[in-house]
Amino acid sequence: MTLDFSDKDVSDFELEAVISKFKKRFNCHPDFVSIAPGRVNLIGGHVDYNGGLVLPLAVDRHTCVAGAKSDEAGVLVVHSVRENESFVVDLDCPMIAARPNWTNYVRGVVHGFLSRGIELPGLKILIDSTIPSGSGLSSSASLEVATAGILEVASGVTLKGNKKPRLCQQAEHEFANVPCGIMDQFAVTFAQRGCMLLLDCRDESIEHVPFDHDQLALVVINSHVRHELSESEYANRHQRCETVSTELGLESLRDLTWSMLDRSRGQFDELSFLCAEHVLRENERTLKFVQHMKNEDWSQAGEMLYQSHVSLSEKFQVSCAELDELVAGARKLGPEEGVLGARMTGAGFGGSVIVLAEREKASDVVSRVVEDYNRIGVPLSRPRASGFVAKPAGGARVIKFVAD
Ligand code: ADP
Ligand code: MG
Repeated sequence: MTLDFSDKDVSDFELEAVISKFKKRFNCHPDFVSIAPGRVNLIGGHVDYNGGLVLPLAVDRHTCVAGAKSDEAGVLVVHSVRENESFVVDLDCPMIAARPNWTNYVRGVVHGFLSRGIELPGLKILIDSTIPSGSGLSSSASLEVATAGILEVASGVTLKGNKKPRLCQQAEHEFANVPCGIMDQFAVTFAQRGCMLLLDCRDESIEHVPFDHDQLALVVINSHVRHELSESEYANRHQRCETVSTELGLESLRDLTWSMLDRSRGQFDELSFLCAEHVLRENERTLKFVQHMKNEDWSQAGEMLYQSHVSLSEKFQVSCAELDELVAGARKLGPEEGVLGARMTGAGFGGSVIVLAEREKASDVVSRVVEDYNRIGVPLSRPRASGFVAKPAGGARVIKFVAD
C-alpha cells in the first residue's frame, strides 16, 4: 500500500490516526480517505437562505471518512468514532430517517446517491473528525460532503458542478430536518487553500478572494454554549424572512431595496421588519468587507465585522450573552493588542465568535480573550471557552490508496 498523502491542510498524524482506527475496527486497510474541512463564515450572517452574499472560509479542522469496499453486497457498515456507535444500511430497502440522529446526515447522502440511480457497492466506512460539533464550524456539512466523496469514489460516479453540495443540502433538509441554506455545503466543497469564498447564494456564483495570511490571522473562539433555543429560533427567523419576501412579491430578500423596505413600514411586526433590514444591510457589508480586504484596509474590514455583530445581536436577535461578551472582550483589546474586528459566526444562540487579528499577535489574542472570559468569578456552571488560530484550508478531496 502506498501512503502518499501530500496534503498540507491535514497532518499525516490525522490521516494515520483515521487509517489506524479503520484498521482496528474492520481488520483491513481502507481503499480511500475522504476529507472535508469545517468552515467559518467571515461575514454575511443569516443571509444565505435569503439568496444573499456570504464569505465563508474553510478551516484546518476536518472530517476524515475512511472507506473500503466489502464482500457483502448491498450493505453499508458505518462507524463514527466520536459517537462510538455503528449502524448498518441495507441498500435494497427504502431509506428513511432514523435514530440516532447523527446517522441521518449519512443516510440522507446515501439516499441522495440511490435516488439519482447511482449504484453503490457494499462498503465499510469509518468517520473521524477534528471539528467540534455544534460550535458553528459546520461539522454537519463537512460530514455530508466527506460522505459524498466516499460514495463518489466507491461508485465511480463523480457529481459535477453544484450537484454534490446540492445533494448534501437536500440530505440535511430531508433527513436531518434542518432547513439550511447552501453556504455550508458550497464552502466545504469549493474552498481553496488561503482564500475566502465570496458566494452569491442567489445565482450560486463564486469568487475566491485571497486571505492575506502573512499579515492576518483568523481566530476562532468557541463558547461551548449551545442554547436550547438555537434550532427553533433559526426556523423562526427563516420563516420571518420568507413571510416578508412573499408578502412583498419577491423571490427572496436579496431582491429587497431600501425604498421597498421603507414603504413596507407598519406592514410587518417589528422583529420581521428588523430581520429584513439586517439582511439588506448585511449584504452590503459583505461587499464592503471584501473591498476593504482587497484594499488591505484591515481596520475598515474589522469595523464591518463589529457592525455585523451588532446587527445580528440587536436586529436579527440571534446572539446571546456569551457571544456578546466574547466579542466585547476582543474589541476591548483593540488594535494595539492586534484585534481588528470580531463577530459571532454560525447560526447563533451559542457556538463561536471569530476575531480578525494581526498574524503576529494572534496566539496572544486567543489566550487573552479566552482567559478574560474564563476568569475566576464567572459562574462555574458556565462552560469554559477555548480558541485556536485557524488556517485557511482547501476544500473537500479524496485520497486513494493504490496497492503496491
Ligand atoms: P455544526 O454543523 O455547526 O457543527 P449541527 O448541529 O448542524 O452543528 O451539526 C452537528 C451534528 O452533526 C452532530 O450533532 C452530529 O449529529 C453530526 N455530526 C457531525 N460530526 C459528526 C461525526 N464525526 N460523527 C457523527 N456525527 C457527526
Ligand atoms: Mg450544521
